[in-house]
Amino acid sequence: MNKQYDCNIILDLLPLSIENMVTEETQKVIDQHLLACESCRQIYEDMTRELDITSTKKKRKKKKRHKYKRKSLIKKCILGYLLLLVLMVAFCIIDVCFFL
Ligand SMILES: [Zn+2]
Repeated sequence: MNKQYDCNIILDLLPLSIENMVTEETQKVIDQHLLACESCRQIYEDMTRELDITSTKKKRKKKKRHKYKRKSLIKKCILGYLLLLVLMVAFCIIDVCFFL
């Protein structure tokens, strides 16, 4: 019964299936075909593996960007504290100069 669906049609639908862009019925047909057809299943696995690799690369990039943002925030905080310290010392010196 599954063989009535041509492999070409299933292969056309695979990208849509991976993106969850097919109806439940179509997904069932695809799943049934993949169970029965070794070559289509292989192509499907290759497609999903490629997708996994790309999403992992994107995640790594995002993580790097996040790390960079955190470092820059820490630098800004340290700079802020140093500026505050310098201002406090300056005020103390001015204060001492005026009262002596
Ligand atoms: Zn097939």
